[in-house]
Order: sequence, then C-alpha cells, then structure tokens
Amino acid sequence: MNTDSIDLNQKTDGSSEGISSAHVKVHPCNMETLFNLEDLPCPYCGKKIIQKIRFEGMVQQFKDWEIDFSSGILPASEYSAGLIKTLTPFQEDFHPIEAAVFKRLTDANRKNPEKTLQELMTEMRPESLKYLHKTELAVLDSIEDLGRYLPKRTDRRLYRIVSEGRSIITNNNPGRPFRRKTFLREINTLPINTEDIAVLVAINKALKLPTSSDNPNAFIVKYSQYKKNINSEIVKSSDIASRFILPSSPTVDHVHPRALGGADIDTNKAVTCFHCNNGKTDIPFPVWLADNPQALVNTQKYADRIIKEVNEGTVHGATYLEELDKTLVELSNGAIRLDLSQLKARG
Ligand SMILES: [Zn+2]
Repeated sequence: MNTDSIDLNQKTDGSSEGISSAHVKVHPCNMETLFNLEDLPCPYCGKKIIQKIRFEGMVQQFKDWEIDFSSGILPASEYSAGLIKTLTPFQEDFHPIEAAVFKRLTDANRKNPEKTLQELMTEMRPESLKYLHKTELAVLDSIEDLGRYLPKRTDRRLYRIVSEGRSIITNNNPGRPFRRKTFLREINTLPINTEDIAVLVAINKALKLPTSSDNPNAFIVKYSQYKKNINSEIVKSSDIASRFILPSSPTVDHVHPRALGGADIDTNKAVTCFHCNNGKTDIPFPVWLADNPQALVNTQKYADRIIKEVNEGTVHGATYLEELDKTLVELSNGAIRLDLSQLKARG
C-alpha cells in the first residue's frame, strides 16, 4: 500500500485526541490523495465515488472468493451472500442501470440463496434477451424507414445493412450475436452527401442501440454469457459483482480534454466517477455541460468536500481549488464559479 494514501480505517473527521498536531500528516492535494478521500462526491453526477483502495480491495476479495468457490472451499450460498453483503452499502450510490439490475439480482437471490450470481444472471438471460431484441429491432425498423429519404443506391445499402442486422438478431445464434459496434461501423460506411441528412439521422439512431451501461436487459445479457466469444471464458460471479461498483470507481478527468489541447496538470484535473468520465470523453466542456447541467451544483459539492479536508489540516488543497476554479470559470464561461469563501487555510 502506498504510505502516502489516507488510511481507510482512520476517521478523517479531524479529531486528534491524544495526538499532537505535529504528528498529523498533511497530504498534498494530488489525484492520488483525492482517489482515497472518503465520501468524495463526483463533481459531475454528485454520486459518491468509492475510494480507490476500497474499490481495489473489493475487486480482489471477489476474485479470492471465486477461487475458493471453484476449488470447493466456499459454498455457493456463502459466496453469493458475501458478494451481496459487500455490495449493498454502495447500492444507494449506484448509477440507475446498476441499481436496477442489482435489485433484480438481490430479489432472485432471496428466492434462491443457494445459487451463484452467475447462475441467477443466466436464469434472467432469456427474458432479458427477448426484451433487448425487441428494443434493437425497433431501432432497426426506424433506421430502415429513413431509406425513403435517400438516393436509391444508398437506400439499397442501408436496406442490406439493416436486413443483415435483423437476421442476426432473429437467428439468435449464441456464436454470432448482434453487435452494436459492428452495426455502427456498417452504418458509418454510408456515403454522406450534404442533402442526405437522413444518413446522419440513421447514425444517430444507431448510436441509441442499447448498451450494458444504459439498458438493464443489455447488462444482463452481456454479463450472463461468454466474455468475448463462445470459445472464451464465461463471465464469473466475481466479474458480475465488480461490474456493479466499476461505474462508481475513481478516475482522473481532464476537465478541458487533452485531445482538445487541455494541459496534463492537476489544475486541469478532477477526480470523477468512471461513469461520468466515460460519458464525457473528448466532448468540449461547454457542450458537455449543456447536456449535464447537474455539474453546475455538483462541482461545488466536490469543492466543499475538499475544503473540509483543507480546513481540518489533512490536505494542502487551497491552491488546487483556486486553480480548478479558474479552469472551470473559463471553460464554462462563468456558469460555474466555485464558492471558496469557507477556505480557512492557504497553500
Ligand atoms: Zn459521476
């Protein structure tokens, strides 16, 4: 363990009974420190980010249990109970899809406590697959409809791409599942002429095909099968359990994306949850902010949490916050202005 990181078992409430303040270690306000801050709200969605060492500890624990389970040391019922008990405290900060699937899984576990999470997901699969296919076919139908606005040749290509996708979905061959990525790649090969706005609409619709991050049925289907293809390893209970906490794990986001010239310095960085970072990608901050206005208030909650730590003397964060404020003011055209008036310390 990195000795610079904050001890998880030590309360960071600033109490220092019996310890002279000379012994309290003040941490630099870098990303590693923020990674391990307890109850740090994501500056974008406001949900609590799981501390890095706690997240990694849980993932390791899940893997260890999987080994004990497969070697017969750990009974399936205890394995499932252990996973659910570990995940439950984080449930209220799960993102909506994870929350929905976790609820279904805990309900199934209550009825069949002797089964593994992997078995329970496999049992949910046929129904989820049915609903997922229904959603996918509806998207494909609406894409096909756009053909009438296209020149004949493009329409014929669009028709071929959609028919191929539709037949893969209805054939339901486990060795050849419908892949959103492949379909999107095909759609993207359609020629776009200025008058063919319909192709752009088709691409937009194809982008709305369900994924495991935005659709509970797609989540269940993905995590109840083989990892990549039918010849590879099956998804294990430990993989399923880790998937629930992954979106809440800490990542570093470059507020002004690096791809757009953003600097790789701490004052252009914020610790955000994996979910938000994954959605923000290289989208320019003002464009992203327009779609994610909750960040207007959550950036302040993020700052407030760090201010608390600075005022208690555990983190040197004043400079980071002042510089981050400048970055946010500039990128948001003044829409975000951090209130740092509660900062007592400097540096
Ligand atoms: Zn977030």
